[in-house]
Amino acid sequence: MIDFNLPHGTHDDPPHRDNPSVPEYGLWMSRVYDAWLAQPEYQHTVRMLEDIVALSAGVRGSVETLGLAPPTSVVIESNGTIEGVDTLRSVEEGASWLGIGLFGTSFDEVMRHPKLLHRYDSKAALAEKCQSCPLVEVCGGGYLPHRFSAGRGYRNPSVYCTDLEHLIRYIQDSLRQHGWDAPAPGAPSP
Ligand code: SF4
Repeated sequence: MIDFNLPHGTHDDPPHRDNPSVPEYGLWMSRVYDAWLAQPEYQHTVRMLEDIVALSAGVRGSVETLGLAPPTSVVIESNGTIEGVDTLRSVEEGASWLGIGLFGTSFDEVMRHPKLLHRYDSKAALAEKCQSCPLVEVCGGGYLPHRFSAGRGYRNPSVYCTDLEHLIRYIQDSLRQHGWDAPAPGAPSP
């Protein structure tokens, strides 16, 4: 399996772009998709791309960076403390800190921690633009850290919105060219 991670960035500290009017990261990943598709003899998975295919078909994806399924993982640090998504450390000091330890707390209690609850609110917790986006079932509003701004918290579209839109549409167009009868966005899987 090969995984590609978009560089961490927030609305306050956005990712570098040579040309802000072009979805550079989405274009780059669409070239990865073409290369992946052109080599069927290579059996490896490219997780981000395979998840977009799966979510487009109404199947749950495997990563929390895409889709609307609530995340099911937390991080246990080597000193026994339990934290939320560790990549939230790229957002602001203490963003991943829950203040609880491994002993005396069940994982069910951890998953109900107030700082994690907004992750379970899936669509309702997203920015207005994402809630009405036809690609939201696949995109999910983007990865949590990439939505952050100091002014609006996580209620923003991803800083990679145009890239995700480009990549998802590119893959769905490709699937249609290969005979996939795509359901309407948001429609339940057959
Ligand atoms: S493509 Fe953009 S607007 Fe649509 S769900 Fe993703 S981040 Fe939100």
